[in-house]
This record gives sequence, structure tokens and C-alpha cells, in this order.
Amino acid sequence: MSGLADLERDAAQHGWLVSPGFIDLHAHLREPGFEESETIATGARAALAGGFTTICAMPNTEPAIDSPGLVAEVIARGAAARAARVLPIAAITRGRLGKELADLVELAAAGAVAFSDDGAPVSDGQLFRNALEYARASGRPIFEHSQDLALTADGVMHEGVVSARLGLPGMAAAAEETAIARDLSLARLAGGRLHLSHVSTAGGVELVRRAKSDGLAITAEVTPHHLALTDEWVAGSRAFAWEDGGDRATPYETSTKVNPPLRTASDVRACWAGLMDGTIDAIATDHAPHASTRKDVEFQEAAFGISGFETAVPLLLAGVAAGWGTWDRVVEALTTGPARVLGITLPENDRVVIDPNAAWTCDAAALVSLGKNTPLLGRALIGRVVACAVDGELRFDLTRIAAS
Ligand SMILES: [Zn+2]
Repeated sequence: MSGLADLERDAAQHGWLVSPGFIDLHAHLREPGFEESETIATGARAALAGGFTTICAMPNTEPAIDSPGLVAEVIARGAAARAARVLPIAAITRGRLGKELADLVELAAAGAVAFSDDGAPVSDGQLFRNALEYARASGRPIFEHSQDLALTADGVMHEGVVSARLGLPGMAAAAEETAIARDLSLARLAGGRLHLSHVSTAGGVELVRRAKSDGLAITAEVTPHHLALTDEWVAGSRAFAWEDGGDRATPYETSTKVNPPLRTASDVRACWAGLMDGTIDAIATDHAPHASTRKDVEFQEAAFGISGFETAVPLLLAGVAAGWGTWDRVVEALTTGPARVLGITLPENDRVVIDPNAAWTCDAAALVSLGKNTPLLGRALIGRVVACAVDGELRFDLTRIAAS
């Protein structure tokens, strides 16, 4: 295959799906500081294997991306990788410490597409209000990780019947809902563009729905794992939210530990409903690769996060097959939706080609990402990205990789 026209002709012959390249608003690439978990180059290649031709890199690295020089470095390393296009998100506060605002206007001028202290919320309300005002002046959105840290304390999974059964400290849905309520309230006061990261609760979706119907200019995302997996996975279930029974794994697998945590089937249902009615603007992976040393420990000690780029498409196709959503709306939430959040137009010559019927096993060798931390490891999945073009250049071709 070479060139977009050939790519599209081949896809038509095979009955494959072709769409504009996907845009991921939320990815952790771990460089600088945690290169054993992922680098900008390995992450950008893994993104293509998942269909994402543009990815936004979260700034919770070491050091945090809080200066124009570091923003420029991320851009340079992203371009050098020649894989997915890498757009840097800069920190809201210096060092992501939540004490003092970074120079948002300067960071935007250096190329930051948004601001986030992701992994941590900006707990200080006055600081968050100021951040929204400066973000407005910079013309960029704030991506907020909405969580009341006092309520989640040492929580390691969703608080509910499953956490009670397993004897694990929980993170109540209210910790997300009360934080979203505060964030919406401050966005109403300060103006600026607020984007809510990884909404995972039915209550959170409803708050966003109401705020939008009141005319507040906010946006929100959900992750593929919150659209498919439930807190029962921590207890060993391997049934998607729309399935009964299914395979079982050992309980307390640290690959199921993620923040926000996997919620109940009715939260999953509400996330799909929000996606379908336009309450949710984008699907973002929250790709959070970890080296095995950070996951091969007791559940309570393990790092939060799921390696998410490469399993997004099969999870979303499964939800659509189950009748919980439509593929057209999923594609919007992976393309025009996130483009609108960023205030950019869709790159004209980016494409993703998907074989919706390809069966493959998600094992460590099959994943391009250095992060093998997914509870889908070992599972047979349906639907796979076959090729991606970035700026008209074929940069991912599964057939060629399989042959080499
Ligand atoms: Zn987060």
C-alpha cells in the first residue's frame, strides 16, 4: 500500500472501515523521567497501532512539562518519532504542585494545546478560578481531573458492593461528582474553556448534561475502559458490562487498578448514553503505561493506570455490537469531537483503516506499547487497526509488521 488513494481502495476491497485519523486528548507518554514505562517514540508508535494519528501528551512527567523549553522538547521528540502527531499539554501549576500557576500564556505560545495537572486535581478553588481566567487569555482549554482527594484518601477501587466484598478501600462516585460540580460552578464564574477528563460516573454525566443544557460552554470525555469494564473486574470477572458470566481471572489483579476506578454496569450504561446524546464530546484513552515493577506488587501498592491505545477499537466495537451505541457516533467522538475540544480542524490527510472482523489475542508481544498493563491481556478481541496514514504518509501498516 502506498498513498491515501491506494489505502482507501484496498480497504474498500476488504470491507474495512476507513475514517479520519483518531485524536486522543489524553495520553501519558512518561518521557522525561519514566522511560522504562514508555517513551514519546514508543507511545507515538503504539498510538498508531490503536488508530490514533494525533495524541495529546499529559505533562505528569519528571520534570513536569511546566516551561516553554520543556514544551518545545516534547514537540521535537514527537516530530522525530515520525509516528502519531504529538501535541503537548502543559501543567496548570508549577511542578504540578497545585500551589502556583505556571505561565499559561507563555506555554500556549510555545505550543501547549491545553493545560492539565492530570493525575491530580487543582484542589485550591481560587487557584482553579485563576487558571480558568488565564487559560481564557491564552485561548486554550483546561483539562481537569475532577476528584475530591479528601474523599478518596487511600481508595484503590470504586466504592460499592464489590469493594466491600473484597475488603478494599473505595473511591466513592461522590468524590468525582462533587469535584465536577465545583469545577462547573467555577467555570460559570470565571469563563474560560473547561474540559472534564475521564468522566466515569452516572452522576458526573448527568451534571455535565445539565450544565450544557444551561448553556455552559464545557466539554467532557470518557475512556474506552469506562465504556466496557466494571468494578467486578477487580474481583476477577472478565465479562464486559453488557455480558453475563464470561471468563474469570484471579481477583485483585493490579491491571484492573485505574483512576478513576472501573465503576458499575449502570455507570457504564450512563457513559454510553451521555456519549450518544452528545453530553460527552470525546473518547480519550487515558493511556497509562507502567513498567511491570510498578504493577507486580500488592493491589494497594500498585500504580493506577491501564495501557489503553491498542485496545480502544475492539472495546468500542464490542459496545456497538452489543447495541449500547453506534459506530458513527463513536467515530465522531474520536475525530470531530476532540478536534472541537482543541479548537483545531481535522488533519485532512490522516486516515485510520480498521478490520472490524479481525480476531486477535491481546498478549504482551502483540502490544507495541512498553506498557503491558491491561486486564485484557490474554483475551481474544475482535477488531483491529490495519493501517494509519499521517499527513498522507502511511506510518502504520499491520500487514507489513506481520510479515517482518
Ligand atoms: Zn486523570
